[in-house]
Amino acid sequence: MRVIDDVADFVIVGTGAGGATAARVLAGAGHDVLMVEEGPLLRTAERPGEVLDAMAMAFRDFATATTRGAYPLPLLQGRCVGGATAINSGIIWRLPEDVRAEWIARHGLAHLVERRALDDAFENIERELEVAETSSKLFGGNAERMAEACRALGLPGQPMTRNAARCQGTARCLQGCPGEARQSMDVSYVPRAQRDGARLLTLARIDRVLMEWGRAVGVQGVLVDPVTRRPVAQLRVMAREAVIVSASAVQTPVILRRSGLRGMVGERFQAHPGCAVVGRFDEAVTMSRGATQGYEVPLRDKRLKLETLSLPPELLAPRLPGAGAMWQRRLTEMDHYAQWSFICRMEAHGRVRPALFGGGSGAAVHYTPTARDMDRVREGLAILCRMMFAAGAREVFPGIAGLPAVFKSAAEVETIERATLRPHQLNMVASHLFGTACAGRDSSTSVVDENLAVHGVHGLHVMDASVFPTNLGVNPQHSIMALAWVAAERLANRSRSRAVAA
Ligand SMILES: Cc1cc2nc3c(=O)[nH]c(=O)nc-3n(C[C@H](O)[C@H](O)[C@H](O)COP(=O)(O)OP(=O)(O)OC[C@H]3O[C@@H](n4cnc5c(N)ncnc54)[C@H](O)[C@@H]3O)c2cc1C
Ligand code: SF4
Repeated sequence: MRVIDDVADFVIVGTGAGGATAARVLAGAGHDVLMVEEGPLLRTAERPGEVLDAMAMAFRDFATATTRGAYPLPLLQGRCVGGATAINSGIIWRLPEDVRAEWIARHGLAHLVERRALDDAFENIERELEVAETSSKLFGGNAERMAEACRALGLPGQPMTRNAARCQGTARCLQGCPGEARQSMDVSYVPRAQRDGARLLTLARIDRVLMEWGRAVGVQGVLVDPVTRRPVAQLRVMAREAVIVSASAVQTPVILRRSGLRGMVGERFQAHPGCAVVGRFDEAVTMSRGATQGYEVPLRDKRLKLETLSLPPELLAPRLPGAGAMWQRRLTEMDHYAQWSFICRMEAHGRVRPALFGGGSGAAVHYTPTARDMDRVREGLAILCRMMFAAGAREVFPGIAGLPAVFKSAAEVETIERATLRPHQLNMVASHLFGTACAGRDSSTSVVDENLAVHGVHGLHVMDASVFPTNLGVNPQHSIMALAWVAAERLANRSRSRAVAA
């Protein structure tokens, strides 16, 4: 195989929320940056409207990666320029204040989440990524009904804030935003970094960080064929200043462990798993119109956040109960369904290791929700079902194996509350993943320090969701970007001062 060699001041592995933001800051400060991305660059205008084709292109392993163990939990991850931001709904939340306080008190991260620096980063990102509250004109029938349920039940519902001020309400964020209204990294910080001189190498999978005498000096991997994903060339990129690993909470620990790092690498894996409930209404809901996700109900004390989630027919159809003629009849009512989901701030901790066999993503993720997590899931499902009836649903499909497939009245929701739910009864999915290279002052309980530099290794940083010592209970991309912004800015300043001193 031919060998490709390259060199840059900063080599960044991964172009998702963390990596693209680091590239934007470092290239913006005049540094020589090379972004290395395993997935392809998918131009939004060329991405297929058909959702399964779009997922095959942009999702890791066609969204089939799951946790190992008795209760396989699907883990949704992006594998393309922009990472998971290229397939997400653009929901924006700042780091919650209670989480910030916990990170300072229990993990010694006062410097990392210093208020002034963090607020500046949030403000810059909000300005540059066109962050705005979703207008009620973009609710569509799905969010309108959730707003109605909140009014009826006195719940604290609100329009979502998103990085999509120019959203047209086409309900197809999963396929990529055709008009580039949503400011995912592939249409915002990656091209911006390129305009500032950064280079982008796609279809380049990094396997390990090269170390010499306790210093990260570069990365090694392969270029892959876009269709077969087989290696077509070997790749070695040297870093004059630093390597930044931003490959996500699942892939970053795999790269670090393959590079010989141990300790807490891969430990403390955390997530926000969730599931959804479908309701059938007499009048049309028309989930194909409106923001894919536009309305939310944060229930922090319950560790739940409820959200509207509009799905295209291909993904909604398998969620409809029944078989044969009855299922076909339900398909004819496609326009009359609303779908709402929740994410749960689970307390469970898992672990990630390089996969020894199977597991296309190269990672073995072990994770099992606790009994208390499942109690919260049960509560979330019951609340969503009650909300559906409060909004006028005729039937609700709770999607729980072993319980009735269809509820016809709010009184039946008690069936959920009386049940002991196990993970295998539910269609849970996790798309917010954290913690496998967690930040902290103490090197025996963390992987990176307050500047997101790996303890005990020179020139190696981690800037992605894996540095979070805890999960958040809210959508994470804004906090991932802001932490990367703060850490990259400090790195740029230190590098500049060294250059001036020399
Ligand atoms: C379907 C979906 C919807 C979501 N909706 C929202 C939302 O609305 N709001 C929100 O806040 N969050 C949302 N999230 C979560 C959010 O997008 C992620 O938490 C965030 O993007 C994670 O950022 P990251 O930098 O850790 O990793 P990612 O964004 O996943 O980026 C990692 C990148 O590294 C690349 N990579 C991995 N391994 C290698 C390797 N070996 N070599 C080279 N490159 C590699 C990947 O291809 C990827 O591009 C959603 C996630 C999903 C999957
Ligand atoms: S709903 Fe449509 S227009 Fe709005 S951000 Fe998503 S894909 Fe873009």
